[in-house]
Amino acid sequence: MLEALAVSIPIGKQAIVIGAGIGGLSAARALADYFEQVMVLERDTMPVAPIHRVGTPQAQHVHGLLASGLNALRALFPNFEQDLVQAGAVPLRAGLDVRVERPEFNPFPQRDLGWIGYSMSRPLLEHTVRQQLKGHRNIIVRQQCRAENVLATSDGGRVRAVQCENRDGTSELLTADIVIDASGRGNLTLALLKSTNRPRPEETVIGVDCHYTTALIAIPPTAPTDWKGVFTFPEAPASTCGALMLPIENNRWIATLGGRHGVSASGEWEGFLRYAKQLRTSTVYDAIKHCTPPERLPQFGFPESVWRHFERLPDLPIGLLPLGDAICRFNPVYGQGMSVAVQEASVLHRLLNARSALGDPLVGLSAAFFQEAVPLIEAPWAIAASLDFIYPQTRGERPANIEGAHKFGRALNRIAARDPAVHKLTIEVQHLLKPRGALLTPELVDRVQAEIAAVC
Ligand SMILES: Cc1cc2nc3c(=O)[nH]c(=O)nc-3n(C[C@H](O)[C@H](O)[C@H](O)COP(=O)(O)OP(=O)(O)OC[C@H]3O[C@@H](n4cnc5c(N)ncnc54)[C@H](O)[C@@H]3O)c2cc1C
Repeated sequence: MLEALAVSIPIGKQAIVIGAGIGGLSAARALADYFEQVMVLERDTMPVAPIHRVGTPQAQHVHGLLASGLNALRALFPNFEQDLVQAGAVPLRAGLDVRVERPEFNPFPQRDLGWIGYSMSRPLLEHTVRQQLKGHRNIIVRQQCRAENVLATSDGGRVRAVQCENRDGTSELLTADIVIDASGRGNLTLALLKSTNRPRPEETVIGVDCHYTTALIAIPPTAPTDWKGVFTFPEAPASTCGALMLPIENNRWIATLGGRHGVSASGEWEGFLRYAKQLRTSTVYDAIKHCTPPERLPQFGFPESVWRHFERLPDLPIGLLPLGDAICRFNPVYGQGMSVAVQEASVLHRLLNARSALGDPLVGLSAAFFQEAVPLIEAPWAIAASLDFIYPQTRGERPANIEGAHKFGRALNRIAARDPAVHKLTIEVQHLLKPRGALLTPELVDRVQAEIAAVC
């Protein structure tokens, strides 16, 4: 439950959010309790229906929402879950409804782990969040409005305005007490740091060279009944070909075929099917081979994951806060980005609540924010990095003892296949509900070591 449902003390007149993606919309909700007006600037035309828009090209591909992200959205928007279901999101019982095919397990044991998640297109998710904001009269989403510059006071110490270009081409200066850069790229934040003589943040980069090709397919009446979705992992490191196919609204599958390091599925249907046929199992191919070909198969290349370490800078201009992908772009394969962005918005809300009675609540806000956001990012980043470096072509600093970590992971999976409690724990960690340390209890480490010894 949000802190502000109890008390909210106004902090300022106008908050500006750049970008109406998942991070920006969630941040707007967090700000709405503390600022008289929250203006969200979005360069796109916002569709009235849950359909694709150009500003988020990634939204045409499969977008899983982790349980931690769902929880954070529920906390920000009390009606979120019910509205999502009403809009057509497909409930999935964790551990049971998605057939997970790993090299040693085809499939991994399917069992009900006790909670429900939802599967839907990214446009539907975003649309549902936009609908939630309608209940907040002080939030204005200004569409076809491109933020061009964030301006600081003459001493560079504090943000004061955002310069934007409106749909008719006119330029406008909007004053702001706080500016959240949820533009995905974060270029305006970098430009402001430069113009106020601050250094650029250091970056950790992992070159993953992922490639996605996606088909939206009407689910045929002959679809298997023992699964609703399927996740086919590649035989790593020999192959990078994998697939994730999930059910979404309007009785469709969203099927994404992925590859890495130069391997990718074709953007035409025959080639797409050929790639599906070459996957480690025939599950996806068998399910889609007789389906009606979609009109188009969008593709997306994701060269590298990038984490900008704003937390290492001596300071940021007071009132400036990057959020979501503007801080960290995760490898999409692990489905973490949206969930982390929403959790960051929840952190923002909590901090505004805790600081609202201070003389100048915005002084020190960014430092306090990064203190909480960094651990939120660290966990998914480490999970992704460990798995990315299974491939020798992955670029960047390999985590220490990565071979040991992979051996540990494989043994843990074997235990999870046999033991429902361990299965549940691994999925909770993957969904960022529990810290990675939960997998390192002395008892579990002993069991994993015994498993490793037994296999050697
Ligand atoms: C192929 C792919 C698949 C993915 N799959 C998943 C997944 O399964 N699960 C998951 O959780 N995450 C996934 N992600 C990551 C997810 O898309 C991002 O983490 C998430 O969208 C970040 O939200 P955001 O609000 O920071 O940025 P975005 O959602 O990208 O939103 C940025 C917004 O800012 C607007 N904008 C940009 N510049 C300006 C400007 N100057 N002025 C005004 N508006 C501007 C854009 O139009 C856009 O609407 C995937 C990413 C990719 C690339």
